[in-house]
Amino acid sequence: MPRPIHAGFSLSALKHNLGVARRHAPKSRVWAVVKANAYGHGLLRVVQALDDADGYALLDLDEAVRLREAGISKPILLLEGVFEPADLVQVDRHALSLVVHDYEQILMLESARLSAPVAVVLKLNTGLNRLGIAPALARNAYSRLQASGRVAAIALMTHFADADGASGVAAQMARFVECTAGLKGEATLANSAAILRYPESHADWVRPGIMLYGCSPFADVSADALGLQPAMTLASEIIALQELKPGDRVGYGGTFEARRPMRIGVVACGYADGYPRHAPGYHDRNTPVFVAGRRTHTVGRVSMDMLCVDLSAIEDARVGTPVTLWGEGLPADEVAACAGTVSYELLCALAARVPVVEV
Ligand SMILES: *Cc1c(COP(=O)(O)O)cnc(C)c1O
Repeated sequence: MPRPIHAGFSLSALKHNLGVARRHAPKSRVWAVVKANAYGHGLLRVVQALDDADGYALLDLDEAVRLREAGISKPILLLEGVFEPADLVQVDRHALSLVVHDYEQILMLESARLSAPVAVVLKLNTGLNRLGIAPALARNAYSRLQASGRVAAIALMTHFADADGASGVAAQMARFVECTAGLKGEATLANSAAILRYPESHADWVRPGIMLYGCSPFADVSADALGLQPAMTLASEIIALQELKPGDRVGYGGTFEARRPMRIGVVACGYADGYPRHAPGYHDRNTPVFVAGRRTHTVGRVSMDMLCVDLSAIEDARVGTPVTLWGEGLPADEVAACAGTVSYELLCALAARVPVVEV
């Protein structure tokens, strides 16, 4: 028998969450963001479940080609554009849409041999200072693209630094509006946080990512409160039990010491499955785990293939009792917060060795 761990993927949750994005941005079309293997959920599975999206946005040329080869005919946007001139051969062959975020990419387009003009999304840096043309150069970049004879429609894009935080989107939106004034083209600005919080940012296309997978982009609002359903449930089972006496320690480094007699369970899930090693398992600071539908917590360090949970209050737990690490009933956001990260990282880190079940 294989190890009992598995990831359950709910296709209906994915569809439901796309519906939530649509209800928030009813006038916008939707680029479903499926980068990083659809946030760990499986690229093709997610694209097929989200057949109601208007297009798909990702990073890897290979992944985009894979979607075309699987018969996906909707627009596919390469969020970082091309990395070398040869990439444009594939872009041309598969009619992919391209982000253009710097002059190197404009140069590549200018000298490309294409069978048809490409759809380009000109990315402007309005404050994130990661990718994007400087606002002062927006017009120049736009004219160069237009004059290249290689591009069809030019859309305009920016990405927010803090749509989920205190500073919001106002300053970046103002910069975007100013530097694109008079430039023709559809606009796309909003990630999940902006979709949920700033209707004024919705524009022609929205770009939901994390919300599609049923997690909250906000530290202070739960996915449930946003009406989102978890798409991924990481589940396993208890594979061994230990009875501890006061003073007994658990796990590598012995970082947890029992203060009273207690029963713990060993769960078949470790950091090699994608569970965060930094999830704490101390008396006063630990990480929630569901065992037989009841809430308990980790004890000791997470190891490569196993972690331990307190079963003192779950007397009927035994070998084979089901465990939920995150997902249905236990938001990945909560586990992530305990481990000092965000749900994005947990979802993307789901290991290839974890068997998948579609539900
Ligand atoms: C990842 C990404 C998104 C989606 O962000 P979420 O916070 O997951 O909604 C949108 N736009 C761009 C450019 C991205 O890289």
